[in-house]
Amino acid sequence: MESSFFFTSRTSPASGRSSPPYDQNNLATHVGDDLDCVVANRAALAGALALKKEQLFFMNQVHGSTIIEIDSTSDSDVIHECDGLITKTPGVGLAVLVADCAPVLFIGATTVAAIHVGWRGLFDGIVEKALALMTHEPFALHIGATICGNCYEVADELAERAHARGFVVGRSTLASDNHPERSTLDIPQSILGIVKKQSVVEVLNAEWNGICTYENQDYYSFRRERITGRQAGVVVHGS
Ligand SMILES: [Zn+2]
Repeated sequence: MESSFFFTSRTSPASGRSSPPYDQNNLATHVGDDLDCVVANRAALAGALALKKEQLFFMNQVHGSTIIEIDSTSDSDVIHECDGLITKTPGVGLAVLVADCAPVLFIGATTVAAIHVGWRGLFDGIVEKALALMTHEPFALHIGATICGNCYEVADELAERAHARGFVVGRSTLASDNHPERSTLDIPQSILGIVKKQSVVEVLNAEWNGICTYENQDYYSFRRERITGRQAGVVVHGS
């Protein structure tokens, strides 16, 4: 079986067990949701991907740039404090949890990886670190639902720093009488720009699925809701 990937939503791959404000398919244990519901939602996700619970690895994400390798000796009950997982082991699924940040999945013939990219991770170089670990073979890269470059308003100072780093910035069109025009940071396009510039191997395909979490109610958005759940991007190493 080829390696594959999947992005969850509030209602996919199955309508989950979580109640508002985490409804329905919250996959995060750290946001205040009932743990039994999260465990059931994670089990349903593993089942939908034809994985056993112990084959699906989650992270305790800290907005950094550490990437940990998972192998056949790894234990999915161990808490991996990092923002990226990578594996060469068939039958392993790697999950990244998000609600506005970008879930980024890499698929090569022998290696797959999942990373969490918000503005801190972007500045901290997690995309470059992942690319450095994927230098041995062509790969495809998939970015799931994330806040878009028009909705992600940031402080002018952050936008200036981002521009200086070569990231994609702009001006929001959300302005109204009581909402001044603000600077924006485009995380998905910044990621794609880094990949285009810095990948040393062939990129077979690099794409964002175009779904903005802030605009689409079927996805959790921290900026829109504050107290909310997390969806996942999952990459599964084929066997
Ligand atoms: Zn948007």
